[in-house]
Amino acid sequence: MSAKHAAPSFDSTNLISNNDSSHTYDDSLLEGIILDGGRGIYRVETATGLLNCTIRGRLRKQLEYPISASAHKRVKKATVKVHDPVAVGDKVRVLPTGGNTGVIEEVIARANGAFTRLDPQKGQGSIRSVSGIDQMIAVFAARAPSPHLRLLDRFLVLAEAQNLAALICINKVDLGVEPWLEERLEVYRSIGYEVILTSVADGQGIEELRGVLGGRTSALLGPSGVGKSSLLNALEPELGLRVSAVSASTNKGRHTTTGTRLVALQGSDGGYIADTAGIRALALGNVAEGRLDWCFPEFRPYLQSCRLSDCSHLREPGCAVLAALTEGKLDAERYDSYCRLYGGSVEAGEEDWGDTE
Ligand code: GDP
Ligand code: ZN
Repeated sequence: MSAKHAAPSFDSTNLISNNDSSHTYDDSLLEGIILDGGRGIYRVETATGLLNCTIRGRLRKQLEYPISASAHKRVKKATVKVHDPVAVGDKVRVLPTGGNTGVIEEVIARANGAFTRLDPQKGQGSIRSVSGIDQMIAVFAARAPSPHLRLLDRFLVLAEAQNLAALICINKVDLGVEPWLEERLEVYRSIGYEVILTSVADGQGIEELRGVLGGRTSALLGPSGVGKSSLLNALEPELGLRVSAVSASTNKGRHTTTGTRLVALQGSDGGYIADTAGIRALALGNVAEGRLDWCFPEFRPYLQSCRLSDCSHLREPGCAVLAALTEGKLDAERYDSYCRLYGGSVEAGEEDWGDTE
């Protein structure tokens, strides 16, 4: 057995691998996925367990300038600066350095679908991104807090704009689903969105939710207090996440988790969840106006039929979307969401999180 220290070849290899891995890497490296961390220390899940890893200095330098990942082109974010050279969800190769430690030597893949947010802890100045997400679960409560469907429409637009699969989870159904909500959910189902009704209190829907998480990397997105942490606990009890109590005095949910992390799900299909509990600001940028209509999937069949090719669907003569609306083929409230988002920001701002019931 060779007792070589950090092999000198590491310094001379190209540390960011090409997509076709050339198999020239040292086989003492382990492949893994970054589950959480930031600012230089990352937890990486490998076949042999979790390793607390630093990054090889040279790799860090290569990654810090300037980040040109395609994900950043797909979503315009003029003001966002990425501080961490690697992100939760990145697939990496790690050199084990004894015990449960290691050094990240190489980034194998940075998947598309970057999801960037402002760190909820003001003053810490960190903006982290979660790459590799391929599914968004929009979580709302049946009541307490009552569901904020305009925010849901925003989430769905953000997901569509990034080609993420989007599902709707209505939690706390043990508190009852009112008829108006049933009706609205039927609209979303008819558009094609899967709606899962869950209750952490009585366990219903949890297995169904687990089923849709299998084999994917999902982000749970929703206002505070809807039960995201509780759902994660129900899915993976050993995580022992702290479930927030809604403060009686301000009625504002407390951030239960800081820093995004990926939670590996046990079970036959595996899958990962990006825990984004407590997010107040999403720095997802705006959807180009020309694409907003496309982000409403039920509009798509009509988009080719408007008289004007650059129709805004707000007032133009010969607009096929307006015609479909008049004929009752499109839902008026969804169309209203479209109008509100048109020309405005799709970003979910502080006031939109529905914290104050
Ligand atoms: P988060 O802010 O979205 O992570 O929400 P939490 O998981 O912290 O839950 C907020 C509150 O809702 C807590 O008091 C939970 O006990 C409660 N809660 C969560 N899920 C359910 C549920 O399915 N039914 C009921 N009745 N309460 C729930
Ligand atoms: Zn039109």
